[in-house]
Amino acid sequence: MIKALRGTKDILPDEISLWQRIEAIGRNIFNIYGYKEIRTPIIEEASLFIRSIGDATDIVQKEMYVFSDRGNRIIALRPEATASIVRAYIENSLFQAGGVAKLFYIGPMFRSERPQQGRQRQFYQIGVEAIGSDNPFIDAEVIALSARFLECLGVKKFHVKLNSLGCQKDKIRVIEKHKENFRPYLERLCETCKNRFDKNVLRIFDCKEDSCKSIAQNIKAESALCDDCAEHFEKVKVGLNAIGVEYTIDNKMVRGLDYYTRTVFEITQESLGAKDAVCAGGRYNNLVKELGGKDTPAIGFAFGMERLALALDKAEEVKNARCKVNTFVAIAGDALYNEAFKLLDSLRMAGISSEIDYDTKSLKAQMRKAEKLGVKFVIILGEEEFKSNKVVLKDMEKHSQEEIQLDKLIAELCSRPGLEHSYTKKVVDR
Ligand code: ATP
Ligand code: MG
Repeated sequence: MIKALRGTKDILPDEISLWQRIEAIGRNIFNIYGYKEIRTPIIEEASLFIRSIGDATDIVQKEMYVFSDRGNRIIALRPEATASIVRAYIENSLFQAGGVAKLFYIGPMFRSERPQQGRQRQFYQIGVEAIGSDNPFIDAEVIALSARFLECLGVKKFHVKLNSLGCQKDKIRVIEKHKENFRPYLERLCETCKNRFDKNVLRIFDCKEDSCKSIAQNIKAESALCDDCAEHFEKVKVGLNAIGVEYTIDNKMVRGLDYYTRTVFEITQESLGAKDAVCAGGRYNNLVKELGGKDTPAIGFAFGMERLALALDKAEEVKNARCKVNTFVAIAGDALYNEAFKLLDSLRMAGISSEIDYDTKSLKAQMRKAEKLGVKFVIILGEEEFKSNKVVLKDMEKHSQEEIQLDKLIAELCSRPGLEHSYTKKVVDR
């Protein structure tokens, strides 16, 4: 039997409501903050990612899916979205509209990593990019948006960690300082980190090997911000303080991509265990220019959706909000099947999610099915009642039932509290 590839997963109908909730709440809040959706291709020229993410990073060194296509072009499955969006921004002249291009995306990313809880080879990200401003209040807006998004989803116990890497010159100064800090431990570092020591010493802070992690823990934090970058960072904090977004400063946070400058941040969530980073982001002031555009500052973030779904799955209120079907049409006697089918259609067209049992057995069996679905109401069509255009409306929560005129049924159902409409508006006005 052919199985799904290692590190990939089917998202099954029972789990999908969580995913749809994340997407719906995301789209809504991103729109409120002025971000518009963009969808870029899943395949790109591999060089796009090598140039942006950096060739000393884990992603480029060992995680990227690269292949040559039939025309011998070197193609990559995108490992992240920022590089693609910057490419699209330049290629489609999105800067022509003026101001800040505020974009959001939702979609699959691919990295060949060792699969484990919260880490897959095909995973999904939802994120935003704000391209075209270096104003520190945009940093504050983007960080606040990530926190507000979690609040709207009902995710609790999350922590925002914040740092500034400074500009390119500051980064070089920090790298020099850390080279000296790590030099005494050079022999004890893993092979990859020995290589990182030469290529980009900051990457050592990102190493997942326990021995390197404990060395990195003992290295003192270094900050070498120039006056401009220090002032920028102070203003980001002022912005966040002004709107009450809580954060802690973590001077050792470097993030796994080379293109970051100045502000970087990460959000962790307590219930996620070892893989607790649910969101990561930061400024990338040199990337647009690096990829052939004008010198354009930018900032963004990405949430891992599997980890969001894991965090949400543990939230009680979400578990309880999963009622899907509202009414069930039951038939006492096969003769009324056609009428039941018509009623089912009218209920659905009125926006009331409804089910029927297509392998009708006894009324008892149908009631069991209705209970299993967790519906609020069962509408029973009985031959006697139907002769006088009536049906029985059974309230499954109150355990009460009453006869009701068929042509008043939908209005009656719509007036009942607790009945969720699939859409607030009728699907079709008849
Ligand atoms: P990590 O340190 O966990 O590998 P990262 O630095 O590689 O994270 P980013 O590239 O910044 O992560 O991606 C942002 C978010 O995307 C992460 O915080 C995480 O929630 C999610 N993510 C990254 N890689 C994976 C993966 N392989 N499977 C599932 N989610 C992922
Ligand atoms: Mg990673």
